Amino acid sequence: MLLGAPASGKGTQAARLADHFDLEHISTGAMLRQAVADGGELGSLVGQLLKDGQLVPDHLVVELVLDALEQSGHGFVVDGFPRTLRQAEGFDVMLAQRALALDAVILIEVAHSVLVSRSTGRRIDPDTGHVYHLQFAPPPAEIVPRLEQRDDDSEAVVVERLAIYQRQTAAVIDHYRERLVAIDGSGTPAQVFTQILDRLNRQ
Ligand code: AMP
Repeated sequence: MLLGAPASGKGTQAARLADHFDLEHISTGAMLRQAVADGGELGSLVGQLLKDGQLVPDHLVVELVLDALEQSGHGFVVDGFPRTLRQAEGFDVMLAQRALALDAVILIEVAHSVLVSRSTGRRIDPDTGHVYHLQFAPPPAEIVPRLEQRDDDSEAVVVERLAIYQRQTAAVIDHYRERLVAIDGSGTPAQVFTQILDRLNRQ
C-alpha cells in the first residue's frame, strides 16, 4: 500500500513496484478518471467531485477496489487508497475475508511547497499515458502541444486536495502507524524507488 499526498509520487512509485515485483497496480484515481472518460453511471456521479478535488464517497471507492481485487489473480500494489479511516477499515475486512496479507505500508513524504509545484507542472501525454513535469521531467518539444493537464492539477484545486489529504488521510496514517515505512519522497523517482526497495529488503 502506498500512502502520500497528491503529487508525492505514489503513482510513479506504484508503477515501478508493480513492474519490479510483477504486481497489479490498483489506482483508485486512475479507475475513477477512466470511469469519467467512459461516461457511464459511475463517471457521471463522480465527475464533478474529481474536478473539484473532493473525495468520492467511501462506498463507491471501496466497491471499485473490491472489484479490482476479485479480478486480480496475484499480488497487487494499491495507490491512492485508502484515503479515509472508513476506507481503511473496509480494506482490512476485505483482506481478512480473503486471507490476504498486507505486506507493506509505505508513506511517501514530501514538503507542501514541493507538492504544489509538482502538481501544477504535471502534464500527461494522452497517447501514451506517460506523465511529465514541465520543469522536473521535461517532455520532448515535439509532443508538448498534445500534452494535457489534469483538471484537478490547477493551483486552487491542488491546495484544496492537499487540505483534504491533511484532514482525512491523517487518520489513515494513524491507523497503520505501527507498520508504516516512511520514505523521503523529495528525490528523483529513481532515488525514491531505491529507498523503497532498501527499506522493503530490511523489513
Ligand atoms: P489521485 O489520482 O489518487 O490523485 O486521485 C484523483 C481524485 O480521485 C481524487 O482527488 C479524488 O477525487 C478521487 N479519489 C481517488 N482515490 C480516492 C479514494 N480512495 N477515495 C476518495 N476519492 C478518491
